[in-house]
Order: sequence, then structure tokens, then C-alpha cells
Amino acid sequence: MVDAPAPAVEYLETADFEWTERAFALLERNAIVITPHFVDGIISIVISGSCPRCSHETVERFVDTVITGVDVKRGPADGGDPGDVLEVDVTCRCGVPHDHAPENVAGCGVSFRIALEDS
Ligand SMILES: [Zn+2]
Ligand SMILES: [Zn+2]
Repeated sequence: MVDAPAPAVEYLETADFEWTERAFALLERNAIVITPHFVDGIISIVISGSCPRCSHETVERFVDTVITGVDVKRGPADGGDPGDVLEVDVTCRCGVPHDHAPENVAGCGVSFRIALEDS
């Protein structure tokens, strides 16, 4: 296995399912950690760890307004168990400059989906 740090990848806006799969593998290895906080009935979630695309550290915080607003679908997955599944779309915000990144963008452009199982 080659584990040397790769040179920074170029910025690319992508939400390919490949990255969601890689993020899932990172989650299983605890390279990505989900920390939910419940305060006064308000959920906020911090997702931190290695970006599946550029491998830099990235941290994403979701608070209730974001979760109910844009990025999350709630409901049982098709054919899945009846438990609630929250899914959040995480965008890399590693803060490391990537070639061709637009201004004010602090990541490599990848978005991936993290499922937060509510059990
Ligand atoms: Zn990066
Ligand atoms: Zn990245």
C-alpha cells in the first residue's frame, strides 16, 4: 500500500457517489468522526476527519437550521430498516489551497453524503 501524502489535488466540484463510498470507508476506520450534540432539543452535528478526496482535515458543523433547511433528507431508506436516517451532505472545507479553486472556497470541491443513523 502506498501511503505517502499525495500532492494536493486540483479543485473539482464533484458529488460523485465514489466519494460517498470512500467517506463511508473512512467512517468505518474512524478516520471520519461524527459527533452529535443535543442541546435544548436542538441537534447539531460535527463531522470531522479526512476528506475522502484530498485527504486534508476537514470539519463541517451542522446545526438544526441547516439540517431542516437544505441538505438533509429524513426517512427510511428504500427497503431499509424503518429507523430514521439522517443524511447530511458534507462539503470539503480543508482550508488548503487547491489549484483552480474559486475565491472564498476553502476546500477541494468534493461533496459527499454521510448517513447518521438514529438508533
Ligand atoms: Zn484539501
Ligand atoms: Zn478535500
